[in-house]
Amino acid sequence: MAMLKTVLANLLQPSRTRAPADMPPVPQTYRGALVHDAGRCTACGTCAFVCAPKAISFTQVPGISVSWHFFIGQCSFCGLCEQNCPTHAISLETAVPGVMNNAAGDGLRLESIIALKPCTRCGAAHVPLPESAMGSQWSEEEKGYCPECRRWAASAKLRSAFIPAETATPAASPALEGAGHD
Ligand code: SF4
Ligand code: SF4
Repeated sequence: MAMLKTVLANLLQPSRTRAPADMPPVPQTYRGALVHDAGRCTACGTCAFVCAPKAISFTQVPGISVSWHFFIGQCSFCGLCEQNCPTHAISLETAVPGVMNNAAGDGLRLESIIALKPCTRCGAAHVPLPESAMGSQWSEEEKGYCPECRRWAASAKLRSAFIPAETATPAASPALEGAGHD
């Protein structure tokens, strides 16, 4: 009889199984689901370099795109990728990570495809820099330069700041120099 009373009492209790929604509040510094913003990513590789368990990797289709990959099964949630990403493309959110987080596929793997763009000066396919990473010293056309052409343009600007135009040799003309990334 006592056992029957216990069984009935238990049946009348609400469910005690914890659901994701029952998760207690976590501090703002909690490192949960990893989020990657492809629009800010320059495929610099820093996150993969600092990730000791190799949870981040890259693949590429030459001349077309670079893909950023993340596998949560190898992630230790150390936060180093977030801390070292120069463009703040990675963040570790307070949301539940892993299989519970089905917003992005199965929650175990993330992939971002970054399309290459032709350089507005030489035409070489390159990963475009996000607007937030470009300083105001670049013109709209220069913002579309590949890394080599940006280097050339930066050095031409520096040179013109120190060498007056009338003393510059013809070889120093920006229209001629730098072609072919020399
Ligand atoms: S996520 Fe950040 S660190 Fe990783 S490749 Fe993109 S820009 Fe570089
Ligand atoms: S949090 Fe740490 S282990 Fe996870 S992907 Fe970033 S660097 Fe790698």
